[in-house]
Amino acid sequence: MGLLSLGTPLPWLESRQYNEHVRDNGIEQLIQSFRKAGGRDNDELYWGDEVEYMICEFDEAGENVVLSVEHDEILEQLNREYHEECERLNVHFHPEYGRFMLEATPARPYHLYEGVEVEKNMRTRRVVAEEKLQKLNRKSGNEVVPLSLTVFPRMGRDGFTNLKDPWDHKNSASRSLFLPDEVINRHARFPTLTANIRTRRGEKVCINVPMYQDSRTAPRDESIYERDWFVPEDLESAKASKPGHIYMDSMGFGMGCSCLQLTFQAPNIDKARYLYDTLANFAPVFLAATAASPVFKGFLADQDVRWNVISGAVDDRTPYERSEEPLLPKYNNGYGSIAPEEVPSVRRINKSRYSVVDLFLGGNGFFDAKFNDTEVPINEKVFKRLTTNDIHPMDKDLARHFAHLFIRDPLVIFEERIEQDNMTETDHFENIQSTNWQSLRFKVPAQDATPNNKKAPGWRVEFRPMEVQLTDFENAAYSNFIYLVIESILTFSDKINAYMYMSEIWENMETAHRRDATLKEKFYWKSDFADTQGKTELLTINEIFHNAHNGIFSVFINPILVHKGLVSKSWTELLHNSGDNADLIRLYYYLKLISDRASGVLPSEASFIRSYVLNHPEYDHTSNVTKKINYDLLHLSYRISHYDNSKGELTALLGQEIATYLINNSIL
Ligand code: ADP
Ligand code: MG
Ligand code: MG
Ligand code: MG
Ligand code: MG
Ligand code: MG
Repeated sequence: MGLLSLGTPLPWLESRQYNEHVRDNGIEQLIQSFRKAGGRDNDELYWGDEVEYMICEFDEAGENVVLSVEHDEILEQLNREYHEECERLNVHFHPEYGRFMLEATPARPYHLYEGVEVEKNMRTRRVVAEEKLQKLNRKSGNEVVPLSLTVFPRMGRDGFTNLKDPWDHKNSASRSLFLPDEVINRHARFPTLTANIRTRRGEKVCINVPMYQDSRTAPRDESIYERDWFVPEDLESAKASKPGHIYMDSMGFGMGCSCLQLTFQAPNIDKARYLYDTLANFAPVFLAATAASPVFKGFLADQDVRWNVISGAVDDRTPYERSEEPLLPKYNNGYGSIAPEEVPSVRRINKSRYSVVDLFLGGNGFFDAKFNDTEVPINEKVFKRLTTNDIHPMDKDLARHFAHLFIRDPLVIFEERIEQDNMTETDHFENIQSTNWQSLRFKVPAQDATPNNKKAPGWRVEFRPMEVQLTDFENAAYSNFIYLVIESILTFSDKINAYMYMSEIWENMETAHRRDATLKEKFYWKSDFADTQGKTELLTINEIFHNAHNGIFSVFINPILVHKGLVSKSWTELLHNSGDNADLIRLYYYLKLISDRASGVLPSEASFIRSYVLNHPEYDHTSNVTKKINYDLLHLSYRISHYDNSKGELTALLGQEIATYLINNSIL
């Protein structure tokens, strides 16, 4: 989403009467977009990344590093005072859920392969954010720095923000036992989103992440405490929290995580659908390959990624919809705050609105409907309207996708935006679309995106699973890697048949969460990309990347590099055959990083952070990540993100060869 719609967001009990209105009009807007943009063709491969940062304040006197909820003014400044400078530098900053968060993208998308330009742009964004924060922060003696951390290790524990007295007032939006409402972006949309999810569900959200079991780990999450501010919410934790798990109870634990997302424009709608389908199984693999989340709420977790935490953090389904008993039947009859007249039509929904993709989109000769083998509820009324209207009827496979998204209710409706012009606007459609947070997003053009108006973006696919890495080098490596995969898919589309059964992709997504999944687990992967029957085999991440006949390097990366005339056979030639072309040598190191992590020669960030905690002198085998460990870990993160190898940490994370290369080849 670009700029936030301004206005007055309605609380759930007032907004729910407009749910069907938003869906009905959203679908008309979608049909108009299809009518207007359906004929677009030959759109250029524009693309761009989004990197999210957490603004951290380093309190050296107190030996603590906290999330800053007092520097969010920076965003306003970056978009106003510094707007021209940002435009000139081709960087743009966006709001995010957390008041402590910043999101940044290139101001103008990249075009085709730009290699090191991607990293330069990321570097510029970090430098600009650092400089402007420093300026804003002149008064306080503490350093305030944006770090591209996937999860803030002690989020939700004592003293994790720079608020003086977080608990001298109630946090009525989230009602969390752990997160004050000040972690939420000040714009009214975000507290309303938080409160509406909780209200619809009829309970606080509930996330139980398996705790890493060490010799002195307590049987239960000992940070849970009793409170009597909110009834019934304060009564929930005893029932909601599971032994052996880290318990989290609020949207901020998930939407307060950072990630690395990439959006790619396809030449036309058919290619966009093909791209989406082909990428579906890359999502779990790249979630595992970028794992960077071994700690939640000050405890080591027995998993390495953020995904299911966000999934749970925005899960607005009622107990009935989830096929579960309400925590406190006295206060929740299973239907949460669904309007009474809607209750008879409520049904079971097997997944959170934040989840792995549900359906392949089809629309090409390789697709067979049998590959969509999972149970996916759809909105029948929407399906019927999309397939049978006389404006721009949609085929059944694509209509199913949208009809699934439209089983959800809108989460935030702005009073001033209830009535919209369906012949020009798309906000009602985007309301539903942009709160279906899946591993991929099929981005639909706005209504001005007619075939000749190339200034308006066309059909795009967003790749959303990746965990953000500490350094621009790593983030650029993953971005360029996925770019090359995509160029390869679009170039060799007549040969690459990635279809397999969707149920296996869902299973892969679960597998990707396990600790050290990159080393120890096996994932379903296409046995042969010429096969038409969806045949897969179970492979390790190493095999998925490196197998000679079906590995990512040999099927996607090497062919596109050969096609571009950069190598004769293999990416590994880039090191010695690139002469003094520094950009190609850097590409070699991007690919090497990913190859070495896939084979286990280099650790994932998750495994690197976990082992740092386990070996910290203050670590006492209770799985607790103390203030001091957090403080040292964030100093370490700062050093790594500035390629400071004074303690040998860059070498430990990236290996001798890459660390030395990076130190000798800074890009700005
Ligand atoms: P969202 O948060 O909805 O995913 P953002 O605006 O934050 O959207 O990010 C979108 C990304 O898409 C940015 O990196 C931007 O550079 C890139 N982008 C912009 N225009 C195009 C286009 N026509 N095709 C592909 N990518 C684009
Ligand atoms: Mg964005
Ligand atoms: Mg966004
Ligand atoms: Mg974002
Ligand atoms: Mg995005
Ligand atoms: Mg979903």
